[in-house]
Amino acid sequence: MRIDLHAHSNVSDGTQTPDVLVAAAAAARLDVMALTDHDSTDGWPAAFAAARQHGVGLVPGMEISCKTAQGISVHLLCYLHDPTNAALLDEITKAKVARLTRAEHMVERLAEDYPLNWDDVSAHVAPGATVGRPHIADALVAAGIVADRNEAFASILTSHSRYFVSHYAVEPTLAVELVRAAGGVPVFAHPVASSRGRVVAPETFHDMIDAGLLGLEVDHRDNSPEGRAWLRQLAQERGLITTGSSDYHGAGKPNLLGENLTSPENLERLLAHGTGTAPFLP
Ligand code: AMP
Ligand code: FE
Ligand code: FE
Ligand code: ZN
Repeated sequence: MRIDLHAHSNVSDGTQTPDVLVAAAAAARLDVMALTDHDSTDGWPAAFAAARQHGVGLVPGMEISCKTAQGISVHLLCYLHDPTNAALLDEITKAKVARLTRAEHMVERLAEDYPLNWDDVSAHVAPGATVGRPHIADALVAAGIVADRNEAFASILTSHSRYFVSHYAVEPTLAVELVRAAGGVPVFAHPVASSRGRVVAPETFHDMIDAGLLGLEVDHRDNSPEGRAWLRQLAQERGLITTGSSDYHGAGKPNLLGENLTSPENLERLLAHGTGTAPFLP
């Protein structure tokens, strides 16, 4: 069984529509995939339709932008929640709106030094999609300022850059509680990805677990071997599900579908906890 539980479509910062993404999962011989766009479930209907057409299992999901009181960015994957749950919807809507304002502010700063305006960026954002730095990167690529998204993130768009602006995001323990209340399964995404910025202290892991966190994304390319060993130990101690995933973004990142996988046992455990929306399993 090839199970990959983390992928993005152009409903956020992936480059493929949800149906093309599901077709790509079928071509990559995945048995089960999860659609986990940033702060949005808008891709679910098209992904379910394509999953039925291609005979690929689909676990509907989302990746929630969170931020600790210390200002550390945390990504929380959630699966199988009720997408109409008001409290959760309210938080992701706040993040989505804040992301748009933040991107506009970043473009204002960039425009002081580069030939770039908001229209150049919005040309790369699908209607209604969750806006992120990757879309600004696409505009920088189109303007010939950088070669690709990766170069943009390594220079102009890093969190240390003078063009960087942060945005509102829900506190991670609250996000965990909201996901559980919506019948979803919260899994901490790439928890020790130090290349992306500061990572949280062990205390925050325990706070999130006490709040109802159910899983850790252990096998992800941004987690170091030592980090993965630590995560596996923690999962063992606290009885958590462990997952492995690609975090595929289409052409936007080198990550390939199926480059990390989740075991059927861990998928079973995850499915057993999700009560908000049924998966499609052929
Ligand atoms: P933002 O959510 O706007 O803060 O931007 C962060 C997002 O950019 C992450 O969710 C990734 O999907 C993406 N990202 C981070 N680093 C890179 C990179 N080096 N190349 C392409 N995309 C990246
Ligand atoms: Fe992303
Ligand atoms: Fe992420
Ligand atoms: Zn992701």
